[in-house]
Amino acid sequence: MDVTETLAAPVKMPAVASRLDAGTKPTLIGLTREEMAEALKGVGVAERQLRMRVSQIWHWLYVRGVSDFDHMTNVAKDMRETLKAHFTIARPEIVEEQVSNDGTRKWLLRFPPRGAGRPVEVETVYIPEEGRGTLCVSSQVGCSLTCSFCHTGTQRLVRNLTAEEILSQLLLARDRLGDFPDRDTPVGAMMPAEGRKVSNIVMMGMGEPLYNFESVKTALLIASDGDGLSLSKRRITLSTSGVVPEIFRTGDEIGVMLAISLHAVRDDLRDMLVPINKKYPLKELMDACRKYPGLSNARRITFEYVMLKDVNDSLEDAKGLIQLLKGIPAKINLIPFNPWPGTNYQCSDWATIEKFADFINAAGYASPIRTPRGRDILAACGQLKSESERMRKTERLAFEAMMIANHGED
Ligand code: SAH
Ligand code: SF4
Repeated sequence: MDVTETLAAPVKMPAVASRLDAGTKPTLIGLTREEMAEALKGVGVAERQLRMRVSQIWHWLYVRGVSDFDHMTNVAKDMRETLKAHFTIARPEIVEEQVSNDGTRKWLLRFPPRGAGRPVEVETVYIPEEGRGTLCVSSQVGCSLTCSFCHTGTQRLVRNLTAEEILSQLLLARDRLGDFPDRDTPVGAMMPAEGRKVSNIVMMGMGEPLYNFESVKTALLIASDGDGLSLSKRRITLSTSGVVPEIFRTGDEIGVMLAISLHAVRDDLRDMLVPINKKYPLKELMDACRKYPGLSNARRITFEYVMLKDVNDSLEDAKGLIQLLKGIPAKINLIPFNPWPGTNYQCSDWATIEKFADFINAAGYASPIRTPRGRDILAACGQLKSESERMRKTERLAFEAMMIANHGED
């Protein structure tokens, strides 16, 4: 389906005054409580006030979602002036916003350079579904890995995103979806965590999140902090191509759900599709999965498997897959390949995908294929990407990966 027909024309967003200083002042967003206390101390906030100020600001930033110090109504005016003089809490610039008829939204965001370097742009996608809304978040601009079926893999790594930039994708989405409480809500009022528009996060955008571990960790711990954004860790899924040394830490230090980009069940094939396999072959990867902290039948690992015609889609492969996952509480997500200009791969035929899925179902794994809705999004992805690539040649972010809509768990 050509979903571009259903997409509204891109909306150019006006500049916002509070953003003007965003490139020069340090941000308070994406700091741990300790880091925020340090930053406040550095601008003269008294030691005995630090704890109280940090929790006030934390509440305004992450419960109320303010992006302007003047809206922090229970912070004294002179304190607000001090904060304003030294820090920013501005959102990134929205270069473009597209809204589809079915509610899928895509934002092209521009982050200021903050010191040396150039501004960078990332896209973030919101996919609403019955009972949940998933935000697909990016961890790097580009990717240093070169998975042969992934468009992102054809682009060099520009840089890691900071914790602020990762978290800002969520704050921005909640702003635009009206997913923060109204500004008139009384200070101290209880904010329901249920019924949110963004209920799930998937780290399935651009880049390899485990090559940017510390920033991803900080951002996800803030996103799941019970006194702030309060997203359940069971509704946050981190997808990795298989950075084995960081897998245990992901469960241990972040505690989110894990997805593995498997795509092949033999080392020779996986070496070609997901070249990090040469460094961390299947046996090591599977061992790391078995040791993933908190793993149980209620907390399974998702194995992503892209369906590539005549490459990895035979019944032999399906058998190998079941064999490989033996003993690991697992779910399998079959992803129809999303073609992009210049690729040599093709998506498997629908009948082949169904046969593969039936085999897996018979082995006890439920609903592994993307629904037609997901396929629509996949189609949209190819369309959107080429369209935006025509529009901006440099630093383009290929985001089909995030459009694949490998959603997190309920
Ligand atoms: N770098 C991380 C997360 C981003 S990619 C990772 O590799 O896991 C999110 C998912 O989309 C991964 O499973 C990736 O392998 C898959 N993917 C990438 N390009 C794709 C394409 N063209 N068609 C289908 N799936 C793709
Ligand atoms: Fe990077 Fe993931 Fe794409 Fe591989 S699949 S190139 S790790 S973004």
